[in-house]
Amino acid sequence: MLVRCWGARGNIPVSGGQTQFYGGATPCLEVRTSDQSVIICDAGTGIRQLGNALLAEKQLEYILLLTHSHDDHLDGLPFFEPLYTPDVRVTAFEHKALREKLEKMCDMAKAAEFSPQCTRSIQAAIEWKPALEYGHIAEVGNALVTSIPASHPGGCSGFKISDRGKSVVYLPDNELTFDHGASMDFSAYVKICAGADLLVHDAQFTCEEYETCRGRGHSSWRQALELAISAGVQQLALFHHDADRTDDQVSAIVKECKREAALRAPRLLCFAMREGAEIVLS
Ligand SMILES: [Zn+2]
Ligand SMILES: [Zn+2]
Repeated sequence: MLVRCWGARGNIPVSGGQTQFYGGATPCLEVRTSDQSVIICDAGTGIRQLGNALLAEKQLEYILLLTHSHDDHLDGLPFFEPLYTPDVRVTAFEHKALREKLEKMCDMAKAAEFSPQCTRSIQAAIEWKPALEYGHIAEVGNALVTSIPASHPGGCSGFKISDRGKSVVYLPDNELTFDHGASMDFSAYVKICAGADLLVHDAQFTCEEYETCRGRGHSSWRQALELAISAGVQQLALFHHDADRTDDQVSAIVKECKREAALRAPRLLCFAMREGAEIVLS
């Protein structure tokens, strides 16, 4: 299984020299399963570059999963070139916000209200699968996809993708230890992440920031680390970097995270996810 990051920034895309290393595009993760199925998690602005890369390699079939309806996870969709390409087949799991966005894009008059892409029509075939309810498992090629309830305002899912004994857990927006409604206890997150090869987790805040940002729907890097250690995962990728965080500041967080991990879980590999990162799980 291969995991590729096309966007790791939270809340709003950013640009400029100070964010170049980790990147400014909002969440989009590509997962290639052992049978070469392409699973796309979220349609943040990172999906634009992913779409171009998929077309360049003539890959025309994908599975699309959306965690939730916040703009930073959907805004890239009108710029996903494969949607305007004949012979492309997208299998999407039912999600109200995703369907509304796609329907607006199919309706020129409505599309004109919200996107400069309004003059183009969708040519890809879109097949809808029933919504992946919390705790449900769907088969995607050789992989199994489990939906995880996340703790986030307005509701949000995470996904665990397992394939031939390897697994990645994607929880981009998840405030651990704060209940936004449908969330689980910390122990339940530990259980579902147990032994994962890669945990991609919300780590938007520093510990100091979290003191004043509690309840906003995002975790601190230390909370993400706590989950990674408790669940005994192999690798922790800090994700959903704050829009105001410079590369140097993200790197400083990684340094601190590694220092703490070295003391408590020496085999745990910690890093911050960045655009272009490729992690092979084999
Ligand atoms: Zn987000
Ligand atoms: Zn969100």
